Amino acid sequence: MRRNIVAGNWKMNKSFAEADDLINSIAETLKEYDTTDVDVIVCPPYPYLELVSDVSEDADFFVGAQNVAKFDNGAYTGEISSSMLKGMGVDYCIVGHSERRKYFNETNKDVSEKIDKLLKEDITPIMCVGESLEEREGGNHFEVIRNQVQEGLFHLSADDMQRCIIAYEPVWAIGTGKTATKEQAQEIHAFIRKLIEEKYSDDVAQEVSILYGGSCNPQNARELFSMEDVDGGLIGGASLKAKDFIQIACSF
Ligand code: PEP
Repeated sequence: MRRNIVAGNWKMNKSFAEADDLINSIAETLKEYDTTDVDVIVCPPYPYLELVSDVSEDADFFVGAQNVAKFDNGAYTGEISSSMLKGMGVDYCIVGHSERRKYFNETNKDVSEKIDKLLKEDITPIMCVGESLEEREGGNHFEVIRNQVQEGLFHLSADDMQRCIIAYEPVWAIGTGKTATKEQAQEIHAFIRKLIEEKYSDDVAQEVSILYGGSCNPQNARELFSMEDVDGGLIGGASLKAKDFIQIACSF
């Protein structure tokens, strides 16, 4: 059965000293709350993975990365492979975030190749999908999301599909303070789950956690997470404050 999940995406933020403070504060704050019903994941920038991984050993959260190379190893200057991530204690990895699609021209094909590399190392992909404002206003959001889900994931076997997490992140809601309504989120989450059911089966669809991302905060998380097909959140800005992040994680 699908799990409740809250993942924090720190993006390219924090100095090393600030990251040290934040992760220790998250570990301490977690002790004050009951998070048995939710898996908490922290995705720091690459250089802080070792720090976050070390702290995670005595704390109740998992470690995630924000990106991975689509290659195994070799002459790919600046890239980080899935086996390197595994060696750092990484259990989850975000792929296909809209910022990577926009600024680094990541395609659905790139995303699908990265997912293969992650699964080979037993790292759980958190694949992001979501439409731009223009696509929503043009009424194309269902088609955009269908393509992203099909081209990113539907080459997988049913077993591998069940090992993935999907994050619906409308681009117009990321970092804008403009959150999707709970109805808008539910509509797309149900649509994604239906796509998985049609391609695989209802059993497979029920195993896949689908997270909402886009200006999620302690004030709106409970309402969003109360929807049937919303299994948690991928949190950007609010994951940079320990208390806000953990409050969101306790919003089920
Ligand atoms: C994100 O970038 O994944 C995200 C959801 O950001 P924010 O919460 O800041 O909108």
